[in-house]
Amino acid sequence: MRNAVYSGSWVSDAKRFFSKNNRPKIGDEYLSGSANRQEYLETAINWISESNIKGYMSKNQHEPNANELWLYFQSVINWVKATFPTYRKEMKGIQWGFLYNEFKNQKFDSQKLEVEITKLMQDEDVTNKKGIYEYILTGKEKYLNIRGFSDNQKREAYERQQGICVKCGVKFELHEMEADHATPWHEGGKTSAENCQMLCRDDNRRKSGK
Ligand SMILES: [Zn+2]
Repeated sequence: MRNAVYSGSWVSDAKRFFSKNNRPKIGDEYLSGSANRQEYLETAINWISESNIKGYMSKNQHEPNANELWLYFQSVINWVKATFPTYRKEMKGIQWGFLYNEFKNQKFDSQKLEVEITKLMQDEDVTNKKGIYEYILTGKEKYLNIRGFSDNQKREAYERQQGICVKCGVKFELHEMEADHATPWHEGGKTSAENCQMLCRDDNRRKSGK
């Protein structure tokens, strides 16, 4: 639909690169969706425009060609390949362009990154393996979706503490408490019964900064 609104030389050229059958097959293994439904094209424009697809298309509508977009897209793919030389299936469908926009000027030691990725891939508490790449670059743990404690682990910790919050020392009912990693995950603490402690809701929110 957008293609119709913004039809012209630019969009025809962009399709030649991103959606035609005889397009150059570059970076397919890093993209989700399909080329013939314009999803590759949409992804590339989304990345280069920082999510302002309409703005980018209307600005470029009358350009003679889509070289800027095509060169940008190849830079993203080359950067991914240089930064993370070992391909894994989890790399398909990551929003690489946004990571490229943010981190392209930073220097990384790819060998060190690979050691860290290998370790995280084997960590059973990391439930979102795809998020490892975003975590490595941004340092934000939310991308890993660290495994939570089971109901049994919570009950066991609750009984061990006799219902007393380890922070404020007040007794609560089980449903009024939340489980917390005594040793945080990033310091090597596992999601295990021994590392589970129960906090009252207020103390848990204070601790996690929510
Ligand atoms: Zn408390």
